[in-house]
Amino acid sequence: MKRSIPLKLKLTTISVCILTVMCVAFAISTIYSTNGLVQATITTPAISVDESMPAITSEPSVAVTEALWQFRGTTVLVMLCLIAIGSALTYLFASRTLKPLEDLTERVQHIDIHNLDEGVSIPQTKDEVAKLAQAFQNMTEKLNLSYQVQKNFSANAAHELRTPLAAIQTQLDVFQMKPDRNPEEYTNLLQSIGESTERLSNLVKDLLTFTNEQGIGKKEPVELRPLLEETVFELEEYAATKQIEITISGQGTVLGDDSLLQRAFFNLISNAIRYNVDCGSIFIEITDAQVTIADTGIGIPDEAKSHIFDTFFCVDKSRSRELGGSGLGLAIVKSIIEKHNGYIYVKNNQPQGSIFIVGFNGNI
Ligand code: ADP
Repeated sequence: MKRSIPLKLKLTTISVCILTVMCVAFAISTIYSTNGLVQATITTPAISVDESMPAITSEPSVAVTEALWQFRGTTVLVMLCLIAIGSALTYLFASRTLKPLEDLTERVQHIDIHNLDEGVSIPQTKDEVAKLAQAFQNMTEKLNLSYQVQKNFSANAAHELRTPLAAIQTQLDVFQMKPDRNPEEYTNLLQSIGESTERLSNLVKDLLTFTNEQGIGKKEPVELRPLLEETVFELEEYAATKQIEITISGQGTVLGDDSLLQRAFFNLISNAIRYNVDCGSIFIEITDAQVTIADTGIGIPDEAKSHIFDTFFCVDKSRSRELGGSGLGLAIVKSIIEKHNGYIYVKNNQPQGSIFIVGFNGNI
């Protein structure tokens, strides 16, 4: 494996190289200029040159040569000192500047799933390192949030799965303790175990649908009217148990996945039946790329409206459970509608009930 060189060493090396080149260039040019100066001085006579005077020699005297060498030596020494001091200062400065980065790296190395919420400290330097620390802090906050959501989801899912399993276990225990069992008791036991397993399998189906992260495969034009008519047909028997009348009006076409859309509308219409009153009504209206599902049911309290699309949220848990709800229905609807680049919201119906409005931005 190639050994990595610390950043401060790299910065120091580059700075030292630049400093050395500049100092050497400066020393050479100084020595060269001094040589020229000395040469010019010794060849220029102080008094006017006469034919009778001996010719001026261009050779410098011993004293001048010695002074020249001394000057050269001093220049080289000063140059070496400057390089050494410059290198030391560069190293110190690079170490100081990169210290927050080293601290950040050390902190990040110690972060794992159990201490995500502790985050990192942001240096007060307002420089690139501070920006990096802030960006990292934002990322850990998002990660922590999504980890908490996942954790809650798993805990809720386990709890919901445990409930019907515990019911089956209790019924079996009670049944086994009975000394003699008649056929009617067998029938009741089988019936209640059947209800619990149906609840379990619905919940598992919902869990699988919700956790299916796949996007829409192929977007195709989907006629909303036939799709909603088919969904209502599937739910006719359920609606008949409460004598609920369902009416559909309007036309519209959207681009999307028809089976996913059918799943979303199935959940919305089955909720409109589940939370409706006996002999209530459901009005489904299609206008271009918008579907309105209005029911005359129990309605949704204002304070619960912002939570109903959350996983496992129920306004009245025991009632929802009694009615066969899992708390995932609207979360699935929201995820499907979002995959279609659409929107969903709920408002009150008059004089009672709820109106769910589903819209698609990419209508055709
Ligand atoms: P559930 O499986 O409990 O029905 P959903 O996610 O489908 O779960 O719905 C969440 C909660 O929203 C329900 O428990 C119920 O309280 C409320 N809700 C959903 N649809 C309606 C509706 N049409 N009328 C009244 N309440 C509703």
